[in-house]
Amino acid sequence: MIIYLERDIEHLPLTQNILKKIPQADIVRIRHYKNIFDATVQFPIEESFILARLRWDHVSTCPPGYDWYDYSFFFKSSLWCVFDCDYCYLKWAFKNHAMKIIFVNYEEIQDSIKKVISSVREKDKTGKIIFYASNYSDIQWLDMITQFNASFIPFFEIFPWVICESRTKSANITSLLPFEAPKNYEIAFSLNPESIIQQYEHKTSSLTERVHAINTLIDRGWKVGLRFLPLLPVHEYESVYRKFLEQLKEEIDFHKVHSFSVGSLLFTKEDYKVIMKKNPWFDMLYSIHQKDSTDGFIRFPLKIRTDFYKLFREFLPKEKTSICLDI
Ligand code: SF4
Repeated sequence: MIIYLERDIEHLPLTQNILKKIPQADIVRIRHYKNIFDATVQFPIEESFILARLRWDHVSTCPPGYDWYDYSFFFKSSLWCVFDCDYCYLKWAFKNHAMKIIFVNYEEIQDSIKKVISSVREKDKTGKIIFYASNYSDIQWLDMITQFNASFIPFFEIFPWVICESRTKSANITSLLPFEAPKNYEIAFSLNPESIIQQYEHKTSSLTERVHAINTLIDRGWKVGLRFLPLLPVHEYESVYRKFLEQLKEEIDFHKVHSFSVGSLLFTKEDYKVIMKKNPWFDMLYSIHQKDSTDGFIRFPLKIRTDFYKLFREFLPKEKTSICLDI
């Protein structure tokens, strides 16, 4: 294992904690993570990761219509996912998608979040604000190294009308269990039928394991979200997803779930071309019809999205569910 370590964050307590957890690692000191992250490297990167400082772009605004909150933001604290979903945008978004980074300057990232909250509060005292933590990583799996939960869960608790969502395909909730259920933190599990997990979501936890983790957290009073995305129109998708929802409804008390959201694949035309070039073996790409696009985005055909919409409307409580299928 090699850890590439930016020199100017070596003194931070989180850096030292992480280094202590992996004492056998070889340390290579570097000036700036981008010199490795953005380079075409010739050496193996699977057995390595970077500890770095995120210097800018800590928080970004979500696109309009992303959810039902008044103000929605993404923030980054790492770029690292151990899972291997065939549809994952990390595969084409970065030159070295196998390169993994933990940004250890949590205090600076939290300062940026505070500034965003203050600027919203100057104009709106009670508007609901959400921060999405996991757009570039599976924070929950990574928490055994990063201690994200220990830092960010208490941090978000002090802000009224604010929530942080951490989304995961991991059933490892060990690092959450020491906490009393927080009021401003939602742990959201991405779910798909087990056959789809097996075929397209490699190395992720099984559906059974995720359901067990969901019920454990619900029993302890946590806010738990269920995320059905991306829905994939596999062979006989209507019956595959119907059986899946019937099974879930038996195993999870939907009344105790904090929120649901449903969505499918959506690409810009440019991204679609890139992913087709990089992942031509991902069969679902061939079910997408570019001809349907009138707005620069491409999606599955309207019939498929309408079928999914009706099915999920039938099973999920309307008042807690956001369905984004552009129909
Ligand atoms: S879990 Fe999310 S981030 Fe990780 S590979 Fe799958 S889609 Fe990508």
